[in-house]
Order: sequence, then structure tokens, then C-alpha cells
Amino acid sequence: MGNLFQASFLMLSAAIGVTATAQSGSFVTIGTGGQTGVYYAVGQSVCKLVNRDTAKTGIKCNAPSTGGSIDNLNALAAGERQMGVIQSDTEYDFYNGKGHFEGKANKKLRVVFGIYPETFTIAARDDSGIENFSDLKGKRVNIGNPGSGTRVMFEVLLKAKGWTKDDFTVASELKPAEMASNLCDNNLDAIAFTGGHPAGLFKEAATSCKSHLVSVDPELIQKLVADTPYYAAATVPGGMYQGTPDDVHSVGVIATLVTTSDVPEAQVYEVTKAVFDNFDRFKKLHPAFANLKPQHMIRDGMSAPLAAGAVKYYKEKGWLK
Ligand code: GLU
Repeated sequence: MGNLFQASFLMLSAAIGVTATAQSGSFVTIGTGGQTGVYYAVGQSVCKLVNRDTAKTGIKCNAPSTGGSIDNLNALAAGERQMGVIQSDTEYDFYNGKGHFEGKANKKLRVVFGIYPETFTIAARDDSGIENFSDLKGKRVNIGNPGSGTRVMFEVLLKAKGWTKDDFTVASELKPAEMASNLCDNNLDAIAFTGGHPAGLFKEAATSCKSHLVSVDPELIQKLVADTPYYAAATVPGGMYQGTPDDVHSVGVIATLVTTSDVPEAQVYEVTKAVFDNFDRFKKLHPAFANLKPQHMIRDGMSAPLAAGAVKYYKEKGWLK
């Protein structure tokens, strides 16, 4: 349906003689994640603000649910989408050709802005006996769907621990939308997801059955933080979810909106402008956005350069020299 709409919009634009720039820059698709995560809310929120100005800018924005960070980066590389929300660790790997993207550096990657911290988060059934990452051995665990940043992080943790998937009795690859129900139906002992908080899937797990969040062992956190430029120690505050009264410790990254140098500067400028011209409104669209500060969003945790269209806006605001 999106393609049909896109085709008829372009035909209409051609018929009424819209300029070449507006035609080629008329559609922005933002790759997100599962609908019970937070990326989906990012994409929907950004598009909501962009689409308020479609009549003026000619830009129509949409933000479908996707497999997550890796899926979003692959779609950028293939020119299938113009933007995506991704984890800062996968940004580093993609730009530098490391880790999951070993030997495939993509120097066209550009940052629009960083958003909020994401934490590698595990929820376990209360009856599973799981209290930290090490207790996952021999259990039924969801390790994240292929294409997700969660999965990449899970594999990094497995390696750091000296384990493989075979250390679990079940290592399932369910998507975020299926995780909480399978935990609560007792098909799994634990689920993992790297995301901002509160996230829909953890709220669902906390309220649908007796479950709690689980910390990563301190020595594992220390090792990952020491070994990489992009992991930081991170905490999910106690009381965020029912069943987890105390702080939970893990490693974190930064959710980041990215694009490529092939995407027209004017498009990136308009998307950036839509968010920051309406920043108070944006912050109210999800609790994970409530404390965002523009100064941090354009400086924290970036391994690829800022996009030219974003830089133009930040300079106009005096946020960059
Ligand atoms: N960080 C997750 C991933 O890349 C997605 C988080 C979300 O959807 O909020 O797989």
C-alpha cells in the first residue's frame, strides 16, 4: 500500500509541477524495531512531527516495524530506507567494518542525533532461579531475533563469558512482540532485549506473570566496558517495573537516528527541524524521551560523522560552531 501511495503521490507531484528536489526528497522511511520496543515509538513520533509539515516541505514520513538495528543498517546500505534507529555499538561496527560488519566498512553512514540510553536487559520468571546472567546456563533463553542489535549484544556477552548457544537448553530467536507471552506461558525461563525504558515488552512480562529483571555480573560489565569504545555501565532504576524493586545493573549503548550521505541534505534538515522545532512535544511522546537534552543528543556516543542536513540545523540554532 505504501508503494502505491508513493507512486500516486509522485505522479501527482509531477502533474502539478513540483520541483525536482521536492520530488526526489518526498519520502522518508525510518526503520525502527518491534512494536513492543521503543524504536517503534521513536519512528512514529519523528514521523508524526515531520508529517505535520508535509504541505510545506513535500516530505512524507513513515516508520514501519522492522527487525532492529542490523536490519535497519542493512536497509540503509541497500538504499531501501532513508533513515533508521540503531544501537551505537552497531553504528561503530558498520562505520568501521568491525564485529558483525567485519570487512564491510560503510563510510556513508551519518548520524542525525543520538537519543536515549539503551540497556541490555534480561527478564526471568520468578520460578526459574535466575538472579544474574551466569544463572542462564542450562536454561531456556530467548537470545534475540536475527537482525536485532539485541542479538549482536547477546553474542558479545556469550563470547565474553566463554559460552555458546549450546550452553542453553533452548536458545530461541523470537521477536520482541512474542517474548513476554512466551515467558509467561512458561515456554522460556528468560528473555533479553536491549532497549530504552520503560519498554512495552517488559511491562507486559511484569504484569502478566511473576517475573523480574536480572543483572549482568559485575566482572562481565567491567570487561565489556574496558574492551570496547561504545559500551557503558548502565542501570535500570528499581521500581521501573512491577517485581523489580531494586536497581538492575548491565551494559548500555545509545539509541541513535542515522542516515547516509546519499540521502538529500534537505530531507535530513527537515526531519531534524521537525523534531527540534517541536522538542517539548517530542519529549512527551514517550517516557524514554522525557529528559532528553539537545546538547547531549548531538554529542554523545557518536562514531560516524553528523549528517550535513543535521549540521545545518544545529548551526542555525547555535548548537554547533
Ligand atoms: N536495540 C534493539 C535492537 O536493535 C531495539 C530496541 C527497540 O526496538 O526499542 O534490536
